[in-house]
Amino acid sequence: MINQIKPNVHQLHFNTFGSTVYLINLDDKNILIDTSTKENEQELLKDLKKLNVQPENISILILTHNHYDHVGNNNLFKNAKIITNKNPQDLPKEFKPIQTPGHTQDSFCILYDDILFSGDTIFHHNGRGRTDLSGGNEQQILNSIRKLKKINYKILCPGHID
Ligand SMILES: [Zn+2]
Repeated sequence: MINQIKPNVHQLHFNTFGSTVYLINLDDKNILIDTSTKENEQELLKDLKKLNVQPENISILILTHNHYDHVGNNNLFKNAKIITNKNPQDLPKEFKPIQTPGHTQDSFCILYDDILFSGDTIFHHNGRGRTDLSGGNEQQILNSIRKLKKINYKILCPGHID
């Protein structure tokens, strides 16, 4: 399912398990945030087609963290530069990275305009990511959430929605 968040921002959402994917069109560049699970490959391709985007025309792939349900279709985007919390300096200048360890050590959030892409750090309805998986740390996620509360955003775009 495709939801339009803004004229240049779309949310791709799947019925089976896997992260929500976001497509941002910026200065003729197609940017994708996360790629969901392999099980959602066909639906992801279909949604991109509906939005007139070819996988090879995704030029930047931003990964909020390295969990299988967020990175399952990375291989479809052969021309994309991959940006993780390790190389946030490669983000387009309109994007601001916020390091938010806790759910995993490599979790980070991205602020674009008034939208916060929060991966699995925070969800709607005050939800937050689990910390009982490898690399999870309860105290760290609490610190990260505190950090996010100071960020001025209007729209939350998390890695999973109901
Ligand atoms: Zn995760």
